[in-house]
Amino acid sequence: MLLHLLIFPDYSQRIMYMLKTFFLLISFTVGIVCFGQQKVFTKVTATYRLKQTETYYRLGDRKIGVVTYKYNKNPNIVMINVHDDEITSIEVSKQVLRKTGGTLIKLKNDSSRLVRFKLDGVAYTFDPNRMFSETGIIASLRKYNSYSPEAVVKIKAFAQFVLGKIPKTSATLIALHNNHIGDYSINSYDNKGEFVSDSRATYIDSIRGTDDFFLTTDDIVYNKIRGYGYNVTLQNNFAAVDDGSLSVYYGKRNRSYVNVETEHGKPEVQFNMLMTVINSPKRINLNYNVYNYEIGDSVEEKKFKNLKIYFSNKPVGNLLSAYYAQGYRKVIGQLEIDNNFGVFSNTDVFLFLKNSGAQMEIRIDPTRERKSFDRLKETFQIIVRN
Ligand SMILES: [Zn+2]
Repeated sequence: MLLHLLIFPDYSQRIMYMLKTFFLLISFTVGIVCFGQQKVFTKVTATYRLKQTETYYRLGDRKIGVVTYKYNKNPNIVMINVHDDEITSIEVSKQVLRKTGGTLIKLKNDSSRLVRFKLDGVAYTFDPNRMFSETGIIASLRKYNSYSPEAVVKIKAFAQFVLGKIPKTSATLIALHNNHIGDYSINSYDNKGEFVSDSRATYIDSIRGTDDFFLTTDDIVYNKIRGYGYNVTLQNNFAAVDDGSLSVYYGKRNRSYVNVETEHGKPEVQFNMLMTVINSPKRINLNYNVYNYEIGDSVEEKKFKNLKIYFSNKPVGNLLSAYYAQGYRKVIGQLEIDNNFGVFSNTDVFLFLKNSGAQMEIRIDPTRERKSFDRLKETFQIIVRN
């Protein structure tokens, strides 16, 4: 549908496109209710104006465009699209950025997934999401029967050019992808999946389509997505095979990155998924581990922002985020605890709501058995005391 509209942008089609946009927003609002998205999100009523910058890179006989769409100076939202045929993801990211502000970097490559160019009369083909390491470039050129050392040098320089366009912020880089039914899915990372050894943990939700999933380098982003019940895999940044993808590049540098993979032609799903990863919390202390929590009792999330977590008067952790998830009728979020502090199945987290203000405490219940607690699979049930 979207492809159709882009190819025939006459007047009536434009109206249809506007209607489509309108329904997309409506469906997003519905999505909030259904999927338990944030109740408060970044300025959804504002609309930012677009500043578009286009640069070209000469690769042999080709000029590949790198387009930067800047909706405002919001440094916290940065998106990238390297496969120019993944139309749904590009359109949806623009819809999101128009509302939230932020930057999208996009390759312009004749609406094709693979980049083709000629060097001294010889034709080369490679996948732009395999160009972020030499190993990846060589493997990709060989896959398309077009390896030469000269081509590797050229592609490496092109990759550096693209990386140079990504704003230097600590924002999680959000990469947008579309796949087709069946070929690549969250099942690729489950116990029997092709890429299981690239993954540290995988969460598969029974009600989600397996083609709609996230891949991230960042355990805080992983836990946040898991909290919302979306399919997600956490890349094993040390063990993942160096395929030259941007996720491996970011993982090796211990930088926050997330792939948003949706099936082609499902803009509503992609919109909701994108809103989930926007404004993910950041660790306060790098030596702390991140945990998910839930609060079943009706507590206003505003009451306990930015709290320290104490263990007998000693600060051992921080509350990082709190969202009211309407779909679950719960407050969910992330907290971090000093990794020198042993967390087990008999570790309880209390939230005390006193008139003087909220306070959080960790206590250990000696009457319960002490078993291990897997922070990538389990969730603290916070005990509220007034
Ligand atoms: Zn892609």
